Amino acid sequence: MTKAIQSSLEFARSHHDRFLDELHEFLTISSISGDPVYEKEMQLAADWVADRLGALGLDRVELLPTAGNPVVYGEWLNPDSSSPTVMIYGHYDVAPVEPLDEWDSDPFAPFLRGDNLYGRGSSDMKGQIMACVAAVEALKLRAEVPLNIKFLIEGEEESGPSHLSDVLTTHHELLESDFCLNTDAGMVGPECPSITYALRGHMGCDLHVVGPSSDLHSGAYGGVVQNPIHVLSELIAGFHNEDGRVAIPGFYDKVREIDEAQRLMLAKVPYPEEKFLMETGAPFLWGETGYSPLERTIVRPSLDVVYFEGGSLKGAIPSKARAAIGMRLVPDQDPKEIYEQTSNYVRESLPEAVTWKLEFRYGFPAILVDVNTPWVDALTNALEAVWGVKPALIRIGGGIPAVIDLKENLGIDSVMTGFSLPDANLHGPNEKLHIPTWKRGVDALIHFFYNLADLQDQ
Ligand SMILES: [Zn+2]
Repeated sequence: MTKAIQSSLEFARSHHDRFLDELHEFLTISSISGDPVYEKEMQLAADWVADRLGALGLDRVELLPTAGNPVVYGEWLNPDSSSPTVMIYGHYDVAPVEPLDEWDSDPFAPFLRGDNLYGRGSSDMKGQIMACVAAVEALKLRAEVPLNIKFLIEGEEESGPSHLSDVLTTHHELLESDFCLNTDAGMVGPECPSITYALRGHMGCDLHVVGPSSDLHSGAYGGVVQNPIHVLSELIAGFHNEDGRVAIPGFYDKVREIDEAQRLMLAKVPYPEEKFLMETGAPFLWGETGYSPLERTIVRPSLDVVYFEGGSLKGAIPSKARAAIGMRLVPDQDPKEIYEQTSNYVRESLPEAVTWKLEFRYGFPAILVDVNTPWVDALTNALEAVWGVKPALIRIGGGIPAVIDLKENLGIDSVMTGFSLPDANLHGPNEKLHIPTWKRGVDALIHFFYNLADLQDQ
């Protein structure tokens, strides 16, 4: 295998320029999924991916239609059925580009400056898709590599609602795989490759509080009715204790306490307090005592009021007030149960002078991927072969919907990594891709695929 992998690595290196030219072309398509204005571009991007997978010489490439944007599917199956099957997940849609005036160049006219390629989608995640394509092309040279590959590239990751789960249900058999490779999770730093194994869950609800039946003249009624804004503010102020813990009874009942080994592992991740201060622009950090900022964002749950509405400037006592609440959940916390606890808390806390309704909006649990699998080993060894250091095993505070969809519908875990750096400005102006890191990423993927193929002989 050593000679084979060498020729694949050499092939990829001697074709970097062509791969990057292709990425350049892919980046010129303004595939912003959240906006109907870009409907044509969405189709263009899907066709572009299908054509590119077709050019790889896959056995089968097709667009799987959805009620929204199509999902691009492509497969390369090895006749030897004992080969592992890896699904390569990606999304061809990109985030919106506003505010446009903060971009130094046109987001859809990719622009190389120094080591970075600037453009919307360069890191998130057209560049990552092209790294996978380049690695598979380099691998395909060697027909004897025993591996089954299924590409699944969706077009609704950056905007809701995604129809990915419909596709997973409808094409269940076609998409069956041993696990999924998701390169949308990025890395900790240029010299610190990463494997993400946990994501926090999310529960969102809206709290409506109603006092008088209509807005009231504060001259005539000020002093006799309770103001819903005051009531809601008081409730919100009580959501956290003085030590920064969420005050809702039962909220922490199922939260697993962080152990020493985890704590040591997280302490090695280069994410100090100063970095949080710099990224947030806040003058001072806040949160649950007894945990580092990184621990608070990934292994501890959190609660935030993300929207507040009520009243007007006309001087009346408002009839109603509303707050949207978002909670980030950790493994074993059940979104429905947390919703019930919140509901009980509101019932106990609010005075009789108002009525209220807590509306459940969405909820999905946290994901914890088993790291003791041959796939994670294969990726660990691949990243170490290229970077010379073991990858950091990390957890992230946000969620990746596709990871949950694949687990729920196909029962498979996602191995999450990626080659975008923390300063890549994902979703912001001047998004960029660090080309030297991307090239190392292509090498690492080639190693990864060969490591997976080796599993068959074991
Ligand atoms: Zn993404």
